[in-house]
Amino acid sequence: MQCICGGESVLQKGLIEFNTRFLGKIIVPDIEFLECDSCGDQLLTPEESDKAIDYIAGEERKRGIYRLRGKGK
Ligand SMILES: [Zn+2]
Repeated sequence: MQCICGGESVLQKGLIEFNTRFLGKIIVPDIEFLECDSCGDQLLTPEESDKAIDYIAGEERKRGIYRLRGKGK
């Protein structure tokens, strides 16, 4: 798959770092993502994003942070 910069995005599996609102940086393991070999841009599939979000929510719960989910604004 080609990146917007013209480089080649390669499928990787490993750790990915997320900035979360409550916990700061969190490392999520076992995530598949595309990484550009030129600009380093990382792209997650929707499935992997969901996995990461669940993982982060789990980490938040462990630290006593509870969020209200599925509520509209
Ligand atoms: Zn790129």
